[in-house]
Amino acid sequence: MQFHDSMISLVGNTPLVKLNHVTEGIQATVLAKVEYFNPGGSVKDRIALRMIEAAERSGELKPGGTIVEPTSGNTGVGLAIVAQQKGYKCIFVCPDKVSLDKINVLRAYGAEVVVCPTAVDPEHPDSYYNVSDRLVRETPNAWKPDQYSNPNNPRSHYETTGPELWEQTDGKITHFVAGVGTGGTISGTGNYLKEASGGAVKVIGADPEGSVYSGGSGRPYLVEGVGEDFWPSAYDRKVADGIVAVSDKDSFQMTRRLAKEEGLLVGGSCGMAVVAALEVARELGPDDVVVVLLPDSGRGYMSKIFSDEWMADYGFLEDTTSATVADVLR
Ligand code: PMP
Repeated sequence: MQFHDSMISLVGNTPLVKLNHVTEGIQATVLAKVEYFNPGGSVKDRIALRMIEAAERSGELKPGGTIVEPTSGNTGVGLAIVAQQKGYKCIFVCPDKVSLDKINVLRAYGAEVVVCPTAVDPEHPDSYYNVSDRLVRETPNAWKPDQYSNPNNPRSHYETTGPELWEQTDGKITHFVAGVGTGGTISGTGNYLKEASGGAVKVIGADPEGSVYSGGSGRPYLVEGVGEDFWPSAYDRKVADGIVAVSDKDSFQMTRRLAKEEGLLVGGSCGMAVVAALEVARELGPDDVVVVLLPDSGRGYMSKIFSDEWMADYGFLEDTTSATVADVLR
């Protein structure tokens, strides 16, 4: 019989898919690492598994304990799946810009979710960082993975995502592009690929305009899961050879093109990363292999990025509309 012991053993080993249409005019090969094939639907299943198993080994997470974490949704899903299979409880703290769809997913997996305001400083008592600290203090047997500072976040990518890409491309990868949230993906994957290639692989971060990684002040933006208003320790500041800042509008328009033209129904941070990857690839030749990591699925964003009304409200449809008219005239 062929079966997996539980959903946990399906984490990682995601496919690499060539982008064929949004890459028009580009000579380099552009490949997408499609992380929605993870059982929880995002790249974050990788860090959830590694952080929980490390905490079990160190004794920080005790049998029957409660996992408390501030998360924009995806890390929560990964933690919730691993936790329920291993007999732990979960309480998640989310900022209010996270879609209700995502919050309901966490609740479906059996987690408790506390929603906090986005428009307050990280130091404010109601900020989602502070609320989660308070819950850790007040909940018996609580453990906070803290994906922002947990070394097992980047390590999970150093041990899984990096080696997978090196093997899948037969060592031919020349550029790795990823959005930066906690910085775990780019740091772990990037450092592995640099070591494996003797420093040849170039690592490029994609960041929403306004976030600190591309020199911003932390000004609000709408793309979820990436960008920060502080510098987390999970992010290795030496790993990136460059950072590309991408606007919400460009991110979301590319996200819609990925669904329409590549059959990839993915989230807004994926569109953002692809915009950055194409910017990099445009300068390269036919021997270059650019891999862009797509963190999650578009299912959690149907009432936002994939709603014409929502896109129009923010003025994000403008160019697309004129492009459609031009297509009709042609
Ligand atoms: N995109 C989405 C949708 C995410 O949830 C995250 C994680 N915060 C990222 C990108 C960025 O990944 P990382 O935290 O590893 O930098």
